[in-house]
Amino acid sequence: MLNIKNLQAKVEEKTILNGLNLEVKPGEVHAIMGPNGAGKSTLGHVLAGRDGYEVTGGEVDFEGRDLLDMEAEERAQSGLFLAFQYPVEIPGVSNMEFLKASVDAIRASRGQDAMTSMDFIKLARERCKAVDLPQDFLKRGVNEGFSGGEKKRNELLQMMLLEPKLCILDETDSGLDIDALQVVADGVNALRNPERSFIVVTHYQRLLDYIVPDYVHVLSKGRIIKSGGRELALELEKHGYGWIDEEVA
Ligand code: ADP
Ligand code: MG
Ligand code: MG
Repeated sequence: MLNIKNLQAKVEEKTILNGLNLEVKPGEVHAIMGPNGAGKSTLGHVLAGRDGYEVTGGEVDFEGRDLLDMEAEERAQSGLFLAFQYPVEIPGVSNMEFLKASVDAIRASRGQDAMTSMDFIKLARERCKAVDLPQDFLKRGVNEGFSGGEKKRNELLQMMLLEPKLCILDETDSGLDIDALQVVADGVNALRNPERSFIVVTHYQRLLDYIVPDYVHVLSKGRIIKSGGRELALELEKHGYGWIDEEVA
């Protein structure tokens, strides 16, 4: 599904990604861990095609297409979804309008008609229940005044409506209490299927008790320096990242 080869990227003339390799097959969940400033969020932003990131080398294949050659909207329409560490607030635009516009854009790119308002409202209400978000959140401004946990639930709601092929979750656990964490994990687990893949960026092994990954990778100084199964996350929690740097050196 996703094949990243020797990816290099700069932000403000500073090299952040420095020869990163990663292969994600359909249905797999990959966790990416690593110290602060390693380039985890940068990886997500580069894959999503966000402005301000300059790719200086490498290749990214997404379902047989050159991802780096696609506009950000095109990437989203082809099934890539990035859940940000800090979701944006869009006051004045209702959550419902925003979600429907996103869903209709994706449907249009697949040659499907826009949903009727009635059908969409029904679907959105159902999905609200699934992520434990009261329905009046559909009427509020996008993320406006939402708590950390509510923003994450809202993001999950968006993900459920868009049905992406590859979801990238960047520190979805930061600022969540245990109950909210469980809701997010349940939502992600409900979305797991043999065709859909996830890249879960997290600082804490705790989230991986709920979202059990197939692979765990350590990102350090812009590249993946170690990969393993979920037991690697437990080792990291116990011993930190220092020993891997030493091992690699
Ligand atoms: P992580 O998510 O692993 O904590 P980031 O990808 O956010 O790391 O950041 C990697 C490095 O890139 C950091 O040193 C950070 O300061 C730098 N960086 C990220 N975004 C910018 C930016 N917009 N301008 C300048 N430096 C940036
Ligand atoms: Mg960080
Ligand atoms: Mg980050």
